[in-house]
Amino acid sequence: MSIDEILNKTNLTCEEIKQLLAAEGEDKKKLFDRALQVKLKHLDNYVHLRGLIEYSNICTKYCLYCGVRCKNLKVERYQLSDEEVIECAKLAHKLGYGSVAIQSGERSDKAFVDKITHLVQEIKKIDNGSLGITLSLGEQTEETYRRWFEAGAHRYLLRIEASNEDLYYKIHPRDEKHDFKKRLDCIDSLLKVGFQTGSGVMIGLPFQSLDDLASDLLFFKQKDLAMVGMGPFIPHPDTPLWAYKDQIPPAEKRMELTLKMIATLRLMMPEINMVAATANQTLDPQGREKAILAGANVIMPNLTPNEFRENYLIYPDKANVKDKPSQTQSKLDESLAAIGHKVLYNAWGDSVAFMRKKALGQ
Ligand code: SAH
Repeated sequence: MSIDEILNKTNLTCEEIKQLLAAEGEDKKKLFDRALQVKLKHLDNYVHLRGLIEYSNICTKYCLYCGVRCKNLKVERYQLSDEEVIECAKLAHKLGYGSVAIQSGERSDKAFVDKITHLVQEIKKIDNGSLGITLSLGEQTEETYRRWFEAGAHRYLLRIEASNEDLYYKIHPRDEKHDFKKRLDCIDSLLKVGFQTGSGVMIGLPFQSLDDLASDLLFFKQKDLAMVGMGPFIPHPDTPLWAYKDQIPPAEKRMELTLKMIATLRLMMPEINMVAATANQTLDPQGREKAILAGANVIMPNLTPNEFRENYLIYPDKANVKDKPSQTQSKLDESLAAIGHKVLYNAWGDSVAFMRKKALGQ
């Protein structure tokens, strides 16, 4: 099928997705142009912000790609105090971000679950619940997810990391702590509890094929997710996958493949929220803007106090580790204006796909 025919479809087959992911030259340009057109038609030129709070790098898992895996003894571990978290949230509110996202290494013990419940409740007290709350705190029981939802969080991100089980076990240890089926079940629990549920994958992993990537996009569509976050894989020297760093596509290729994944998914799911991940900016100073032009509509500026940021290095050379929030903001407004986009301040920026489904009672 010709690229023009494919670009006018929303129900793409695996083969058609692969054709888009492999597009080069004029065809590639057509893909990006079409994805931007679809995004502007459905979501306008607004970008939604979530002030990112990297709550803690204490983690019970040892995923083979992640710099904060518990087996990396070089990392100095931290957990923000309640006051620090509330200060971050107040700053997000003051800057007009509309939402915060709390991300952390993975723990599911009672003290952690209670602490998060309390923090969500406290954040909700700021200006009468005016901040939206996204959580990205890994695998938990359905009961925990429900508690956090009832406390006031309403969006949750849990990347599947790789929707192909074989690939999943090439990037995670095969043991009870890293169980593919459990991760899938968690996504189902989040949907059931009523979260705007997001997932995602890393792009350019060792052993990952175009078939895997096409299946990832079909997985997001099949789960009818409200949000997706995809970013390039960046090898970390203190992780087992570092050994495969020469067997992955070079940085520009990983970046380009990420942009093609974003653009293709925008055609398939025109109304979802898609984040321009910080990892894009790490590989390419213009990566965030490129992701917005390829179809992303959410940015997560980092609000973690600067002294902790260098300890939350899930991958090396993370962008913006040294930036101050006020600088981040003016830089962002300018760089978005330069590409014809603007931040929608003081709004939760919920997923249009999710809100439509809810209105229809589905
Ligand atoms: N513990 C939480 C948050 C994980 S950090 C959870 O499990 O959901 C957020 C995301 O960073 C991960 O889901 C993963 O996709 C991404 N990430 C981790 N290591 C990475 C690396 N080396 N390169 C690129 N992205 C990485």
